[in-house]
Amino acid sequence: MNWKKLRCELCETRFSCDKHHIIPRADNGSNQAYNIAVLCPCCHREVTSNEIQIIRRYLTSDGFRLETVRNNQRYIGKKEFNKPDLVQQLTLF
Ligand SMILES: [Zn+2]
Repeated sequence: MNWKKLRCELCETRFSCDKHHIIPRADNGSNQAYNIAVLCPCCHREVTSNEIQIIRRYLTSDGFRLETVRNNQRYIGKKEFNKPDLVQQLTLF
């Protein structure tokens, strides 16, 4: 798979995306697709520095989205969590 052509699961950019292990390999995180998020360099840095914590992942009608916490606020991708239209289309992955 060419990760560089995929869309960032947080900010939706297609710029230079790379794979990120949601549960780190060092903690026996799987190399299977369900444990791999596609992130752009900017979002990847925010996740690895713990500015953003990934809670879980959803499959939406528009591809995968990550539920995250930042500054005690919940988000889907980088949108606030409590948007009814967004929540309705979520399916737990
Ligand atoms: Zn991004």
